[in-house]
Amino acid sequence: MIVVENLVGGKFVTTDEAFDDISPLDNSIIAKIPRTKSADDAVFAAKHAFGEWSQLTIEQRCDWLDKIADTLESNIDEVARLESLDTGKPFDVALNVDASRSVNNFRFFAEYGRSLKSEKFEMSDATNYVMRKPIGIVGLISPWNLPLYLLSWKIAPALLMGNVVIAKPSEITPLTAHFLGRLCTEIGLPGGVLNILNGYGPEIGQAIVEHPEIKAISFTGGTSTGKIVAATAAPMFKKLSLELGGKNASLVLDDADLDVAVPGVLRASFLNSGQICLCGSRVLVHSSIYDEFMSMYLEALKDFEIGPVINMQHREKVLSYIELAKQEGGEILAGGNVPSKEGAWIEPTVIAGLSHESRTATEEIFGPVVTIHKFETDEEAIEIANCTQYGLAGSVWSKERGRTVAEKIESGMVWVNTWLHRDLRVPFGGVKDSGVGREGGMWSIGFFSEAVNICVMED
Ligand code: NDP
Repeated sequence: MIVVENLVGGKFVTTDEAFDDISPLDNSIIAKIPRTKSADDAVFAAKHAFGEWSQLTIEQRCDWLDKIADTLESNIDEVARLESLDTGKPFDVALNVDASRSVNNFRFFAEYGRSLKSEKFEMSDATNYVMRKPIGIVGLISPWNLPLYLLSWKIAPALLMGNVVIAKPSEITPLTAHFLGRLCTEIGLPGGVLNILNGYGPEIGQAIVEHPEIKAISFTGGTSTGKIVAATAAPMFKKLSLELGGKNASLVLDDADLDVAVPGVLRASFLNSGQICLCGSRVLVHSSIYDEFMSMYLEALKDFEIGPVINMQHREKVLSYIELAKQEGGEILAGGNVPSKEGAWIEPTVIAGLSHESRTATEEIFGPVVTIHKFETDEEAIEIANCTQYGLAGSVWSKERGRTVAEKIESGMVWVNTWLHRDLRVPFGGVKDSGVGREGGMWSIGFFSEAVNICVMED
Protein backbone atom coordinates (compact mmCIF):
# COMPACT_ATOMS: atom_id res chain seq x y z
CA MET A 1 0.00 0.00 0.00
CA ILE A 2 1.46 3.35 -1.05
CA VAL A 3 1.02 6.21 1.39
CA VAL A 4 0.82 9.49 -0.50
CA GLU A 5 1.97 12.54 1.45
CA ASN A 6 1.93 16.24 0.73
CA LEU A 7 5.19 17.98 -0.14
CA VAL A 8 5.41 21.26 1.77
CA GLY A 9 8.61 23.26 2.16
CA GLY A 10 10.75 20.28 1.10
CA LYS A 11 9.21 17.94 3.71
CA PHE A 12 6.64 15.19 3.31
CA VAL A 13 3.69 15.74 5.60
CA THR A 14 0.32 14.16 6.00
CA THR A 15 -3.09 15.12 7.34
CA ASP A 16 -5.41 13.64 9.99
CA GLU A 17 -7.83 12.33 7.39
CA ALA A 18 -7.01 10.16 4.39
CA PHE A 19 -9.02 8.49 1.66
CA ASP A 20 -8.50 5.59 -0.73
CA ASP A 21 -6.96 5.57 -4.18
CA ILE A 22 -8.72 2.78 -6.10
CA SER A 23 -7.29 0.85 -9.04
CA PRO A 24 -9.56 0.94 -12.09
CA LEU A 25 -8.11 -2.43 -13.15
CA ASP A 26 -9.74 -4.40 -10.33
CA ASN A 27 -11.16 -1.90 -7.81
CA SER A 28 -8.46 -2.74 -5.23
CA ILE A 29 -7.16 -0.05 -2.87
CA ILE A 30 -3.68 0.94 -4.00
CA ALA A 31 -2.90 4.01 -1.91
CA LYS A 32 -4.00 6.30 0.89
CA ILE A 33 -4.29 9.97 0.01
CA PRO A 34 -4.19 12.85 2.50
CA ARG A 35 -7.36 14.92 2.63
CA THR A 36 -5.94 18.43 2.70
CA LYS A 37 -8.21 21.40 3.25
CA SER A 38 -5.89 24.37 3.64
CA ALA A 39 -3.14 25.76 1.44
CA ASP A 40 -1.76 28.04 4.18
CA ASP A 41 1.34 25.99 5.10
CA ALA A 42 2.29 25.52 1.46
CA VAL A 43 1.83 29.24 0.79
CA PHE A 44 4.05 30.04 3.79
CA ALA A 45 6.76 27.67 2.52
CA ALA A 46 6.49 28.91 -1.07
CA LYS A 47 6.75 32.54 0.02
CA HIS A 48 9.90 31.72 1.94
CA ALA A 49 11.43 29.99 -1.10
CA PHE A 50 10.45 32.62 -3.64
CA GLY A 51 13.23 35.12 -2.86
CA GLU A 52 16.16 32.86 -3.65
CA TRP A 53 14.50 30.95 -6.49
CA SER A 54 13.44 34.08 -8.32
CA GLN A 55 16.95 35.52 -7.95
CA LEU A 56 18.61 32.61 -9.76
CA THR A 57 19.56 33.32 -13.34
CA ILE A 58 17.41 31.74 -16.00
CA GLU A 59 20.38 29.50 -16.92
CA GLN A 60 20.53 28.21 -13.33
CA ARG A 61 16.82 27.41 -13.40
CA CYS A 62 17.26 25.70 -16.79
CA ASP A 63 19.92 23.53 -15.15
CA TRP A 64 17.39 22.58 -12.46
CA LEU A 65 14.82 21.62 -15.08
CA ASP A 66 17.44 19.43 -16.76
CA LYS A 67 18.23 17.79 -13.42
CA ILE A 68 14.55 17.03 -12.92
CA ALA A 69 14.34 15.63 -16.47
CA ASP A 70 17.43 13.49 -15.79
CA THR A 71 16.07 11.98 -12.60
CA LEU A 72 12.66 11.33 -14.18
CA GLU A 73 14.36 9.71 -17.15
CA SER A 74 16.47 7.47 -14.93
CA ASN A 75 13.25 6.37 -13.23
CA ILE A 76 11.07 6.28 -16.34
CA ASP A 77 9.90 2.69 -15.89
CA GLU A 78 8.77 3.44 -12.35
CA VAL A 79 6.92 6.57 -13.54
CA ALA A 80 5.16 4.45 -16.16
CA ARG A 81 4.41 1.67 -13.66
CA LEU A 82 2.82 4.10 -11.20
CA GLU A 83 0.85 5.86 -13.94
CA SER A 84 -0.39 2.54 -15.29
CA LEU A 85 -1.35 1.37 -11.78
CA ASP A 86 -3.25 4.58 -11.02
CA THR A 87 -5.04 5.06 -14.35
CA GLY A 88 -5.30 1.46 -15.58
CA LYS A 89 -3.79 2.37 -18.95
CA PRO A 90 -1.52 -0.20 -20.61
CA PHE A 91 2.11 0.07 -19.46
CA ASP A 92 3.27 0.85 -23.02
CA VAL A 93 0.92 3.84 -23.25
CA ALA A 94 2.01 5.00 -19.80
CA LEU A 95 5.66 4.68 -20.86
CA ASN A 96 5.51 6.07 -24.39
CA VAL A 97 2.86 8.74 -23.92
CA ASP A 98 2.81 9.78 -20.24
CA ALA A 99 6.26 9.13 -18.82
CA SER A 100 8.30 10.10 -21.86
CA ARG A 101 6.35 13.31 -22.37
CA SER A 102 6.80 14.22 -18.69
CA VAL A 103 10.57 13.97 -19.17
CA ASN A 104 10.31 15.96 -22.40
CA ASN A 105 8.31 18.73 -20.74
CA PHE A 106 11.20 19.51 -18.37
CA ARG A 107 13.81 18.98 -21.08
CA PHE A 108 11.94 21.16 -23.58
CA PHE A 109 11.50 24.11 -21.23
CA ALA A 110 15.15 23.88 -20.12
CA GLU A 111 16.25 24.23 -23.74
CA TYR A 112 13.60 26.81 -24.49
CA GLY A 113 14.70 28.91 -21.53
CA ARG A 114 18.28 28.93 -22.80
CA SER A 115 17.11 30.16 -26.19
CA LEU A 116 15.07 33.10 -24.84
CA LYS A 117 16.27 36.42 -26.23
CA SER A 118 15.91 39.78 -24.54
CA GLU A 119 13.05 41.74 -26.09
CA LYS A 120 13.78 45.31 -27.18
CA PHE A 121 11.75 47.77 -29.26
CA GLU A 122 13.59 50.79 -30.66
CA MET A 123 11.86 54.12 -31.31
CA SER A 124 13.48 57.11 -33.04
CA ASP A 125 14.19 58.72 -29.65
CA ALA A 126 13.89 55.94 -27.07
CA THR A 127 14.33 52.22 -26.43
CA ASN A 128 11.79 49.89 -24.81
CA TYR A 129 13.19 47.00 -22.79
CA VAL A 130 10.74 44.21 -21.96
CA MET A 131 11.47 42.35 -18.72
CA ARG A 132 9.77 39.14 -17.78
CA LYS A 133 9.33 39.05 -14.01
CA PRO A 134 8.09 36.03 -12.09
CA ILE A 135 4.52 36.28 -10.82
CA GLY A 136 5.20 34.76 -7.38
CA ILE A 137 3.24 31.77 -6.08
CA VAL A 138 1.29 29.97 -8.78
CA GLY A 139 -1.37 27.29 -8.34
CA LEU A 140 -1.38 24.40 -10.82
CA ILE A 141 -4.39 22.07 -10.97
CA SER A 142 -4.55 19.04 -13.23
CA PRO A 143 -6.92 16.18 -14.14
CA TRP A 144 -6.60 12.39 -14.01
CA ASN A 145 -6.36 11.40 -17.67
CA LEU A 146 -2.68 12.25 -18.28
CA PRO A 147 -1.60 12.92 -14.71
CA LEU A 148 2.11 13.73 -14.72
CA TYR A 149 2.14 14.66 -18.43
CA LEU A 150 -0.26 17.55 -17.81
CA LEU A 151 1.06 18.60 -14.41
CA SER A 152 4.70 18.70 -15.57
CA TRP A 153 3.58 20.73 -18.62
CA LYS A 154 2.69 23.45 -16.10
CA ILE A 155 5.39 22.91 -13.47
CA ALA A 156 8.31 23.22 -15.92
CA PRO A 157 7.50 26.67 -17.39
CA ALA A 158 6.30 27.97 -14.00
CA LEU A 159 9.65 27.11 -12.37
CA LEU A 160 11.60 28.29 -15.40
CA MET A 161 10.19 31.79 -15.10
CA GLY A 162 11.13 32.02 -11.41
CA ASN A 163 7.80 31.24 -9.81
CA VAL A 164 7.24 28.92 -6.87
CA VAL A 165 4.58 26.29 -7.26
CA ILE A 166 1.67 24.81 -5.36
CA ALA A 167 0.49 21.85 -7.43
CA LYS A 168 -2.65 19.81 -6.93
CA PRO A 169 -2.96 16.55 -8.86
CA SER A 170 -6.33 14.91 -9.29
CA GLU A 171 -7.48 13.02 -6.21
CA ILE A 172 -8.00 10.02 -8.50
CA THR A 173 -4.38 9.83 -9.74
CA PRO A 174 -1.90 11.28 -7.24
CA LEU A 175 0.90 8.68 -7.48
CA THR A 176 3.23 10.15 -10.10
CA ALA A 177 3.07 13.69 -8.70
CA HIS A 178 4.04 12.22 -5.33
CA PHE A 179 6.90 10.33 -6.98
CA LEU A 180 8.06 13.50 -8.74
CA GLY A 181 8.09 15.23 -5.35
CA ARG A 182 10.29 12.46 -3.95
CA LEU A 183 12.71 12.70 -6.87
CA CYS A 184 12.92 16.48 -6.56
CA THR A 185 13.80 16.28 -2.87
CA GLU A 186 16.41 13.59 -3.63
CA ILE A 187 18.18 15.86 -6.13
CA GLY A 188 18.06 18.73 -3.65
CA LEU A 189 15.56 21.07 -5.28
CA PRO A 190 15.28 23.84 -2.67
CA GLY A 191 12.38 23.25 -0.26
CA GLY A 192 9.26 25.30 -0.94
CA VAL A 193 9.96 25.77 -4.66
CA LEU A 194 7.66 22.87 -5.56
CA ASN A 195 4.86 22.09 -3.11
CA ILE A 196 2.31 19.36 -3.80
CA LEU A 197 -1.03 19.22 -2.02
CA ASN A 198 -3.47 16.31 -2.30
CA GLY A 199 -7.15 16.04 -1.58
CA TYR A 200 -10.57 16.66 -3.02
CA GLY A 201 -10.99 19.31 -5.71
CA PRO A 202 -13.80 21.25 -4.03
CA GLU A 203 -11.70 21.39 -0.82
CA ILE A 204 -8.00 21.83 -1.51
CA GLY A 205 -8.43 22.78 -5.19
CA GLN A 206 -10.90 25.47 -4.16
CA ALA A 207 -8.62 26.59 -1.29
CA ILE A 208 -5.74 27.08 -3.75
CA VAL A 209 -7.90 29.08 -6.17
CA GLU A 210 -9.29 31.19 -3.30
CA HIS A 211 -5.96 31.93 -1.62
CA PRO A 212 -5.17 35.64 -2.02
CA GLU A 213 -1.41 35.09 -2.06
CA ILE A 214 -1.54 32.66 -4.98
CA LYS A 215 -1.39 35.04 -7.90
CA ALA A 216 -2.04 32.83 -10.91
CA ILE A 217 -4.00 29.65 -11.54
CA SER A 218 -3.30 27.30 -14.39
CA PHE A 219 -6.14 24.79 -14.56
CA THR A 220 -6.77 21.79 -16.79
CA GLY A 221 -10.01 19.91 -16.31
CA GLY A 222 -13.68 19.87 -17.15
CA THR A 223 -15.62 22.88 -18.43
CA SER A 224 -18.03 22.95 -15.46
CA THR A 225 -15.13 22.97 -12.96
CA GLY A 226 -13.43 25.62 -15.09
CA LYS A 227 -16.47 27.87 -14.60
CA ILE A 228 -16.17 27.55 -10.81
CA VAL A 229 -12.43 28.25 -10.96
CA ALA A 230 -12.99 31.31 -13.16
CA ALA A 231 -15.79 32.65 -10.96
CA THR A 232 -13.60 32.29 -7.86
CA ALA A 233 -10.38 33.69 -9.33
CA ALA A 234 -11.70 36.53 -11.49
CA PRO A 235 -12.74 38.95 -8.69
CA MET A 236 -9.18 38.73 -7.33
CA PHE A 237 -7.79 39.56 -10.81
CA LYS A 238 -5.64 36.45 -10.80
CA LYS A 239 -3.94 35.41 -13.98
CA LEU A 240 -5.96 32.49 -15.26
CA SER A 241 -5.32 29.78 -17.83
CA LEU A 242 -8.15 27.33 -18.47
CA GLU A 243 -7.69 24.19 -20.57
CA LEU A 244 -11.14 22.58 -20.60
CA GLY A 245 -13.26 19.94 -22.28
CA GLY A 246 -13.71 19.02 -25.93
CA LYS A 247 -15.88 17.17 -28.41
CA ASN A 248 -13.51 17.02 -31.31
CA ALA A 249 -14.27 15.91 -34.85
CA SER A 250 -12.16 13.82 -37.24
CA LEU A 251 -13.14 14.76 -40.81
CA VAL A 252 -12.47 12.12 -43.46
CA LEU A 253 -12.84 13.82 -46.86
CA ASP A 254 -13.56 11.99 -50.11
CA ASP A 255 -9.90 12.20 -51.22
CA ALA A 256 -8.46 10.78 -47.97
CA ASP A 257 -5.78 8.09 -48.14
CA LEU A 258 -7.63 5.44 -46.16
CA ASP A 259 -4.45 3.54 -45.32
CA VAL A 260 -3.38 6.63 -43.38
CA ALA A 261 -6.81 7.83 -42.25
CA VAL A 262 -8.15 4.60 -40.77
CA PRO A 263 -5.34 3.94 -38.25
CA GLY A 264 -5.05 7.67 -37.55
CA VAL A 265 -8.75 8.20 -36.87
CA LEU A 266 -8.90 5.00 -34.83
CA ARG A 267 -6.02 6.13 -32.62
CA ALA A 268 -7.70 9.53 -32.21
CA SER A 269 -10.91 7.75 -31.24
CA PHE A 270 -9.64 5.35 -28.61
CA LEU A 271 -6.12 6.16 -27.36
CA ASN A 272 -6.18 6.20 -23.54
CA SER A 273 -9.70 4.75 -23.74
CA GLY A 274 -10.89 7.98 -25.37
CA GLN A 275 -9.90 9.91 -22.24
CA ILE A 276 -7.74 12.56 -23.87
CA CYS A 277 -9.21 16.03 -24.28
CA LEU A 278 -7.95 15.92 -27.91
CA CYS A 279 -9.58 12.61 -28.82
CA GLY A 280 -11.78 12.68 -31.93
CA SER A 281 -15.05 11.42 -30.49
CA ARG A 282 -17.04 12.39 -33.62
CA VAL A 283 -15.96 10.80 -36.88
CA LEU A 284 -17.35 12.52 -39.99
CA VAL A 285 -17.01 10.50 -43.18
CA HIS A 286 -17.81 11.47 -46.78
CA SER A 287 -20.68 9.37 -48.14
CA SER A 288 -18.68 8.20 -51.20
CA ILE A 289 -16.08 6.40 -49.03
CA TYR A 290 -18.30 5.65 -46.05
CA ASP A 291 -18.72 1.90 -46.57
CA GLU A 292 -15.07 1.27 -47.34
CA PHE A 293 -13.87 3.44 -44.43
CA MET A 294 -16.26 1.85 -41.94
CA SER A 295 -15.37 -1.69 -42.88
CA MET A 296 -11.62 -0.94 -42.52
CA TYR A 297 -12.19 1.02 -39.27
CA LEU A 298 -14.29 -1.70 -37.60
CA GLU A 299 -11.83 -4.38 -38.70
CA ALA A 300 -8.85 -2.46 -37.30
CA LEU A 301 -10.74 -1.80 -34.06
CA LYS A 302 -10.64 -5.54 -33.28
CA ASP A 303 -6.88 -5.29 -32.66
CA PHE A 304 -6.87 -1.99 -30.78
CA GLU A 305 -5.90 -2.48 -27.13
CA ILE A 306 -7.44 -0.19 -24.53
CA GLY A 307 -7.43 -0.12 -20.73
CA PRO A 308 -10.41 0.46 -18.46
CA VAL A 309 -11.85 3.93 -17.90
CA ILE A 310 -10.69 5.76 -14.82
CA ASN A 311 -13.18 4.43 -12.24
CA MET A 312 -16.60 2.84 -11.75
CA GLN A 313 -18.32 6.20 -11.37
CA HIS A 314 -16.95 7.37 -14.70
CA ARG A 315 -17.93 4.05 -16.27
CA GLU A 316 -21.52 4.68 -15.15
CA LYS A 317 -21.42 8.08 -16.86
CA VAL A 318 -20.06 6.58 -20.08
CA LEU A 319 -22.60 3.74 -20.03
CA SER A 320 -25.41 6.23 -19.48
CA TYR A 321 -24.38 7.91 -22.75
CA ILE A 322 -24.50 4.56 -24.58
CA GLU A 323 -28.06 4.12 -23.25
CA LEU A 324 -28.90 7.67 -24.29
CA ALA A 325 -27.54 6.99 -27.77
CA LYS A 326 -29.92 4.04 -28.11
CA GLN A 327 -32.85 6.23 -27.01
CA GLU A 328 -31.78 8.88 -29.51
CA GLY A 329 -31.96 6.33 -32.32
CA GLY A 330 -28.30 5.31 -32.54
CA GLU A 331 -27.18 1.98 -33.92
CA ILE A 332 -24.32 0.31 -32.03
CA LEU A 333 -21.85 -0.90 -34.68
CA ALA A 334 -19.27 -2.19 -32.21
CA GLY A 335 -18.92 -2.60 -28.45
CA GLY A 336 -21.50 -1.15 -26.12
CA ASN A 337 -21.00 -3.86 -23.49
CA VAL A 338 -19.17 -4.32 -20.23
CA PRO A 339 -16.60 -7.18 -20.27
CA SER A 340 -17.22 -9.70 -17.49
CA LYS A 341 -14.22 -8.90 -15.31
CA GLU A 342 -13.48 -6.77 -12.25
CA GLY A 343 -12.65 -3.12 -12.84
CA ALA A 344 -13.94 -0.18 -14.84
CA TRP A 345 -13.84 -1.82 -18.26
CA ILE A 346 -16.04 -0.92 -21.24
CA GLU A 347 -15.71 -2.20 -24.77
CA PRO A 348 -14.70 0.43 -27.32
CA THR A 349 -18.01 1.54 -28.74
CA VAL A 350 -18.92 2.86 -32.19
CA ILE A 351 -22.37 4.37 -32.77
CA ALA A 352 -23.89 5.42 -36.11
CA GLY A 353 -27.23 6.84 -37.18
CA LEU A 354 -27.44 9.72 -34.71
CA SER A 355 -28.24 13.31 -35.59
CA HIS A 356 -25.09 15.40 -35.31
CA GLU A 357 -27.12 17.63 -32.99
CA SER A 358 -28.09 14.82 -30.61
CA ARG A 359 -26.90 14.99 -27.02
CA THR A 360 -24.66 11.94 -27.52
CA ALA A 361 -22.95 13.65 -30.44
CA THR A 362 -22.51 17.06 -28.82
CA GLU A 363 -21.79 16.45 -25.11
CA GLU A 364 -18.38 15.41 -23.84
CA ILE A 365 -18.39 11.71 -22.86
CA PHE A 366 -14.63 11.36 -22.29
CA GLY A 367 -14.57 7.61 -22.79
CA PRO A 368 -14.22 4.94 -25.49
CA VAL A 369 -17.36 6.00 -27.35
CA VAL A 370 -17.41 7.42 -30.86
CA THR A 371 -20.29 8.62 -33.02
CA ILE A 372 -20.09 8.34 -36.81
CA HIS A 373 -21.72 10.87 -39.15
CA LYS A 374 -22.00 10.87 -42.94
CA PHE A 375 -21.65 14.08 -44.97
CA GLU A 376 -21.92 15.10 -48.65
CA THR A 377 -19.82 18.28 -48.98
CA ASP A 378 -16.85 19.91 -47.24
CA GLU A 379 -19.15 22.75 -46.13
CA GLU A 380 -21.50 20.29 -44.45
CA ALA A 381 -18.56 18.58 -42.69
CA ILE A 382 -17.33 21.95 -41.41
CA GLU A 383 -20.81 22.85 -40.18
CA ILE A 384 -21.10 19.56 -38.28
CA ALA A 385 -17.58 19.94 -36.83
CA ASN A 386 -18.49 23.42 -35.55
CA CYS A 387 -21.91 22.63 -34.12
CA THR A 388 -20.91 21.99 -30.48
CA GLN A 389 -20.22 24.34 -27.58
CA TYR A 390 -16.60 23.12 -27.60
CA GLY A 391 -13.64 24.14 -29.75
CA LEU A 392 -10.52 22.37 -28.63
CA ALA A 393 -9.07 20.34 -31.49
CA GLY A 394 -9.83 18.34 -34.62
CA SER A 395 -8.27 16.46 -37.49
CA VAL A 396 -8.82 16.49 -41.26
CA TRP A 397 -7.88 13.55 -43.48
CA SER A 398 -7.47 14.55 -47.14
CA LYS A 399 -4.80 14.45 -49.86
CA GLU A 400 -5.56 17.90 -51.29
CA ARG A 401 -7.94 20.01 -49.20
CA GLY A 402 -6.86 19.35 -45.62
CA ARG A 403 -5.45 22.76 -44.81
CA THR A 404 -8.30 24.70 -46.48
CA VAL A 405 -10.88 22.79 -44.46
CA ALA A 406 -8.78 22.93 -41.26
CA GLU A 407 -8.74 26.74 -41.39
CA LYS A 408 -12.55 26.80 -41.16
CA ILE A 409 -12.83 24.64 -38.07
CA GLU A 410 -13.58 26.59 -34.91
CA SER A 411 -10.98 25.12 -32.60
CA GLY A 412 -7.59 25.97 -31.17
CA MET A 413 -5.76 23.13 -32.91
CA VAL A 414 -6.33 21.11 -36.07
CA TRP A 415 -4.16 18.29 -37.42
CA VAL A 416 -4.07 17.34 -41.11
CA ASN A 417 -3.39 13.66 -41.93
CA THR A 418 -2.09 13.11 -38.41
CA TRP A 419 -3.24 13.42 -34.82
CA LEU A 420 -1.51 14.28 -31.55
CA HIS A 421 1.66 15.18 -33.42
CA ARG A 422 3.09 17.76 -31.05
CA ASP A 423 5.75 20.42 -31.35
CA LEU A 424 5.98 21.85 -27.84
CA ARG A 425 6.71 25.37 -29.18
CA VAL A 426 3.25 25.81 -30.73
CA PRO A 427 0.10 27.17 -29.03
CA PHE A 428 -2.05 24.58 -27.28
CA GLY A 429 -5.55 25.46 -26.10
CA GLY A 430 -9.16 25.86 -27.04
CA VAL A 431 -11.82 28.33 -28.11
CA LYS A 432 -15.50 28.54 -27.07
CA ASP A 433 -16.18 26.44 -23.95
CA SER A 434 -12.87 24.60 -24.34
CA GLY A 435 -10.93 27.23 -22.51
CA VAL A 436 -9.17 30.53 -22.23
CA GLY A 437 -5.50 31.06 -23.01
CA ARG A 438 -2.79 28.94 -24.57
CA GLU A 439 0.04 26.79 -23.29
CA GLY A 440 3.28 25.81 -25.06
CA GLY A 441 6.52 27.63 -25.92
CA MET A 442 6.18 31.41 -25.76
CA TRP A 443 2.56 31.12 -24.60
CA SER A 444 3.60 29.36 -21.40
CA ILE A 445 6.45 31.82 -20.90
CA GLY A 446 3.96 34.69 -21.28
CA PHE A 447 1.48 33.18 -18.85
CA PHE A 448 4.02 32.38 -16.14
CA SER A 449 5.62 35.83 -16.14
CA GLU A 450 4.66 39.47 -15.85
CA ALA A 451 5.89 41.39 -18.88
CA VAL A 452 7.15 44.79 -17.75
CA ASN A 453 8.16 47.47 -20.23
CA ILE A 454 10.89 49.96 -19.40
CA CYS A 455 11.03 52.83 -21.87
CA VAL A 456 14.34 54.70 -21.77
CA MET A 457 14.47 58.13 -23.45
CA GLU A 458 17.70 58.79 -25.35
CA ASP A 459 19.71 61.92 -24.60
P1 NDP B 1 -12.31 17.98 -13.23
O1 NDP B 1 -12.70 19.31 -13.73
O2 NDP B 1 -13.26 17.19 -12.44
O3 NDP B 1 -11.00 18.08 -12.32
C1 NDP B 1 -9.82 18.72 -12.74
C2 NDP B 1 -9.02 19.14 -11.53
O4 NDP B 1 -9.72 20.16 -10.83
C3 NDP B 1 -8.82 18.00 -10.52
O5 NDP B 1 -7.56 18.12 -9.92
C4 NDP B 1 -9.92 18.29 -9.53
O6 NDP B 1 -9.68 17.71 -8.29
C5 NDP B 1 -9.87 19.80 -9.47
N1 NDP B 1 -11.06 20.46 -8.94
C6 NDP B 1 -12.32 19.99 -8.81
N2 NDP B 1 -13.12 20.94 -8.26
C7 NDP B 1 -12.35 22.03 -8.07
C8 NDP B 1 -12.59 23.34 -7.54
N3 NDP B 1 -13.78 23.73 -7.11
N4 NDP B 1 -11.56 24.21 -7.50
C9 NDP B 1 -10.34 23.85 -7.96
N5 NDP B 1 -10.04 22.63 -8.43
C10 NDP B 1 -11.04 21.74 -8.50
O7 NDP B 1 -11.79 17.17 -14.49
P2 NDP B 1 -11.39 15.67 -14.57
O8 NDP B 1 -10.28 15.40 -13.59
O9 NDP B 1 -12.63 14.84 -14.51
O10 NDP B 1 -10.74 15.60 -16.03
C11 NDP B 1 -11.47 15.41 -17.19
C12 NDP B 1 -11.73 16.73 -17.88
O11 NDP B 1 -10.53 17.40 -18.14
C13 NDP B 1 -12.41 16.53 -19.22
O12 NDP B 1 -13.45 17.45 -19.36
C14 NDP B 1 -11.31 16.83 -20.21
O13 NDP B 1 -11.75 17.27 -21.46
C15 NDP B 1 -10.55 17.88 -19.49
N6 NDP B 1 -9.19 17.98 -20.01
C16 NDP B 1 -8.83 19.08 -20.75
C17 NDP B 1 -7.58 19.17 -21.32
C18 NDP B 1 -7.16 20.37 -22.12
O14 NDP B 1 -5.96 20.54 -22.34
N7 NDP B 1 -8.05 21.21 -22.60
C19 NDP B 1 -6.60 18.08 -21.17
C20 NDP B 1 -7.07 17.00 -20.38
C21 NDP B 1 -8.33 16.95 -19.82
P3 NDP B 1 -10.27 16.26 -7.95
O15 NDP B 1 -9.81 15.32 -9.01
O16 NDP B 1 -9.64 15.97 -6.66
O17 NDP B 1 -11.75 16.42 -7.91
